[in-house]
Amino acid sequence: MTKTLLEVEKMKKYFPINGGILGRKIGEVKAVDDVSFSVFEGETFGLVGESGCGKSTTGRTLLRLHEPTDGKVKFNNQELTNLSLSELRTVRRDVQMIFQDPFASLNPRQTVEKILEEPLIVHKIGTPKERKQMVIEMLETVGLSSYHAKRYPHQFSGGQRQRIGIARALMTKPKLIIADEPVSALDVSIQSQILNLLDDLQKAFSLTYIFIAHDLGVVRHICDRVAVMYLGKIVELSNSEKLYKKPLHPYTEALLSSVPIPDPTYEREHIELSGEMPSPSNPPKGCSFHTRCPHSMDICKTVQPEFEEIEQDHYVACHLYNKNEQL
Ligand code: SF4
Repeated sequence: MTKTLLEVEKMKKYFPINGGILGRKIGEVKAVDDVSFSVFEGETFGLVGESGCGKSTTGRTLLRLHEPTDGKVKFNNQELTNLSLSELRTVRRDVQMIFQDPFASLNPRQTVEKILEEPLIVHKIGTPKERKQMVIEMLETVGLSSYHAKRYPHQFSGGQRQRIGIARALMTKPKLIIADEPVSALDVSIQSQILNLLDDLQKAFSLTYIFIAHDLGVVRHICDRVAVMYLGKIVELSNSEKLYKKPLHPYTEALLSSVPIPDPTYEREHIELSGEMPSPSNPPKGCSFHTRCPHSMDICKTVQPEFEEIEQDHYVACHLYNKNEQL
């Protein structure tokens, strides 16, 4: 039986908007709005959507880098939302992050050795001598060399810096890695090297990934299941194969229509979405996608669709598929 490693239940993250002379709260940005999903041990779970859909905020809120406004997050059957900071630090040994911009996430004044040693010191792992050895071994594991340990981040290329970011995340031997757009700042040729490395490391260290990306094409080959987010909500969740073969939500269809297909004999209609994503501080009533949806109906403007299992393990929030509604 597949073990659930992470369980997210009705998680919300609202950021206050303050204004006026007194700086009072005048509104809120609903960056993550009632999101529920589970991640199984050993899988790669994709979180995908346009910029501003709430996918990165979801990743950070899971780790309480942002405090959730509401909801529950369970990791390995332990509820994270009510842990003290010191208890949370212990959990963070098992849950690490890889960031989009490796340069910004690495301290420019520290050598690679110091950067990689730091998580070991924080979590009190090994003696100084053992830690140095662990750093060398990890550098080699991610495709770098022992002599890189004495260098500084600016002496590396973008791809090498992301290898250092990955090495740092792996130093504590975590169970779960949240990778936030780990390849989107890299050249296409380097992207595939990093994706292959992540794939190899997953097998070698029995890792579970949450892979955050704006491009459905990037996650296609590495994710077992994919959740598509729009305006702070998950609108579709399914295993990758089903999602790519037969997307159900009109937003997923539109996202997929712009992913290039390597087969020149196969043509797919490009669906152009009208307008911009509305502001999460003032989301539309009903289905939040109705202002851009080519299939929008009257009900979509007033009633929010339920997130339902339409086929086995395929969940969608759309009135086109709602079983209980007579349209
Ligand atoms: Fe489009 Fe309506 Fe479905 Fe929303 S609920 S995606 S507006 S058809």
